[in-house]
Amino acid sequence: MALINENYLKLPGSYLFAEIGRRVAAFKAANPEANVIRLGIGDVTRPLPSAVIEAMHAAVDEMAKSESFRGYGPEQGYSFLIEKIIENDYAARGIKLDTDEVFVSDGAKSDVGNIQEIFGVGNTVAITDPVYPVYLDTNVMAGRTGALGGDGRFEGIVYLPCTAENGFLPALPAVKVDMVYLCVPNNPTGTALPKAELKKWVDWAKANKAVIIYDSAYEAYIREPEVPHSIYEVEGAKEVAIELRSFSKTAGFTGTRCAYTVVPKTVMGYTKAGEAQQLNKMWNRRQTTKFNGVPYVVQKGAEAVYSPAGKEQVKATVDYYMTNAAIIREGLKSAGLEAYGGVNAPYIWLKTPNNLDSWAFFDKLLGEANIVGTPGSGFGPSGEGYFRLTAFGNRETTEEAISRIKTRLKL
Ligand SMILES: *Cc1c(COP(=O)(O)O)cnc(C)c1O
Repeated sequence: MALINENYLKLPGSYLFAEIGRRVAAFKAANPEANVIRLGIGDVTRPLPSAVIEAMHAAVDEMAKSESFRGYGPEQGYSFLIEKIIENDYAARGIKLDTDEVFVSDGAKSDVGNIQEIFGVGNTVAITDPVYPVYLDTNVMAGRTGALGGDGRFEGIVYLPCTAENGFLPALPAVKVDMVYLCVPNNPTGTALPKAELKKWVDWAKANKAVIIYDSAYEAYIREPEVPHSIYEVEGAKEVAIELRSFSKTAGFTGTRCAYTVVPKTVMGYTKAGEAQQLNKMWNRRQTTKFNGVPYVVQKGAEAVYSPAGKEQVKATVDYYMTNAAIIREGLKSAGLEAYGGVNAPYIWLKTPNNLDSWAFFDKLLGEANIVGTPGSGFGPSGEGYFRLTAFGNRETTEEAISRIKTRLKL
């Protein structure tokens, strides 16, 4: 009899996007003339930069000739890409990394899901709340939690609430924690942590021999000078932090798939006997055993993100989304709503008016303004009473959405 991993049964069905789809379909059936605007998507909409397209076309042609054909590449990524990553994303900010500390992958989602594998099942995990659901769900699957409680929290997980009351700054855990996930800039709240806040986390991790898993998928959207672009800008972070980045939101690679994870050789985990082990070696073993690398064509496309033309094109796209973000944020505020984020991230997090719950506001926004967003409660219990709008739409529909919120939403 093949037994199953029963931890999977602890997870509720992925209710959020299915329920959104159900409610939108029902609304459209009842109101066929309504022009529904979707500001709920967490996916980019602008095409790949032309520098990336050209590089990928050239790489495809290389694959067509026996002299330049490539089969399996290094599991960790080609050095042409790793060197560009180090030079542009790290050395340019005064951070020194070795080429064997960067691992190219097919996505930050996979890396987030896979990285927990190199840690003990008995570790206590802390997550900020609300947050990108992958951190929690992958740890549930691995058996690092108990059951889901009636309060929407999994037993054994340390939730760090991030709300308007604490300025979306997670407090250091009050209990013993071994691993913490930080998502900066944050999905869904759109807020970021200034260097002084990150320093507290690094010092805490050092004092507790804990590891910080730092997801920086939205790094390209950082605008404020006090927000570090890498956790390694904080002194001591190379001893305690693993950093994940992705070309998805930076350069439109959500469907093309390329990301990377930095595991400095100085980050340690421990055996039960207290002996330090390099996490870099373990991650290398994991990747070389279970992963065969990102396609050459895709890595050539990612390399082009760092060319002068690529950088300019990426900046233009990110600026486009960030102009949308400013339109949404300022528009919500002038409509009298409380809005956060949208300054260092493509997400705007609004407090629902009159203490409506997230789903009640979803229905109100859809019914009165025909706009679809994402209920904050879908990202964790502390997201209740909040709502996420994204800047990934086009300019025209973003402007139209804000004009509808101002004129049609009854506040
Ligand atoms: C979109 C997103 C990712 C996923 O990135 P991929 O590289 O496309 O897998 C990871 N983390 C956060 C917080 C995200 O929002």
